[in-house]
Amino acid sequence: MMKIVGWYTFEMMNEMKAQLRSSNFQLLDLMHHFTSGQKAFFGLMVHQGVDELRMCCGGAGYSQWSLLPEIFSCSSVFPTVEGDTVVMAQQNAKLLFHMVAQAAKGKKVGVDKITTTSFGYIDHLTELLSSKSDATCPVTFASLDHLEKALAVRAGQWLSHLGQ
Ligand SMILES: Cc1cc2nc3c(=O)[nH]c(=O)nc-3n(C[C@H](O)[C@H](O)[C@H](O)COP(=O)(O)OP(=O)(O)OC[C@H]3O[C@@H](n4cnc5c(N)ncnc54)[C@H](O)[C@@H]3O)c2cc1C
Repeated sequence: MMKIVGWYTFEMMNEMKAQLRSSNFQLLDLMHHFTSGQKAFFGLMVHQGVDELRMCCGGAGYSQWSLLPEIFSCSSVFPTVEGDTVVMAQQNAKLLFHMVAQAAKGKKVGVDKITTTSFGYIDHLTELLSSKSDATCPVTFASLDHLEKALAVRAGQWLSHLGQ
């Protein structure tokens, strides 16, 4: 998952750099949102994941022979170094709060990129939250389109609670 998100962000960074050359700063906020969020959650996930792995190994997880004490020592700084998790998560949330406030005023908030529109679902919250699943079998239920819509509905529900 981290690899896919990292690859997507790298592609977006290239797109943003190309836009910056023509003084277009449209993707800057979005990039800040994604990278601060990734720093917050991936840093914590790695640290907690290594700790879980260490505990799963019982006493061997404390032995230098397993190398886990060294790996744990290296990963334990990830939630803090180069931006504390709480602070990075706050940075990440900032854009969403701003978008919800804008959408409540009736403004469009979706950010257009070359192939997709990020956060476009916020512009259609009412329609989205009253929509029904069009899945008819396990295959359509597990399809990426259906999954994407389900995630948008879930995020939309959180946002609509936030706006109330
Ligand atoms: C091993 C290591 C190597 C480092 N190397 C470098 C380096 O080479 N160059 C460099 O410049 N820096 C380096 N740093 C510093 C690092 O970038 C900072 O430690 C990191 O950004 C966290 O900032 P801070 O220490 O000021 O902690 P703070 O931001 O003060 O955080 C302290 C606590 O307060 C909480 N907190 C802070 N703000 C809020 C808020 N708004 N709301 C709620 N809670 C909050 C945090 O969650 C945390 O629990 C290094 C740090 C470590 C641990």
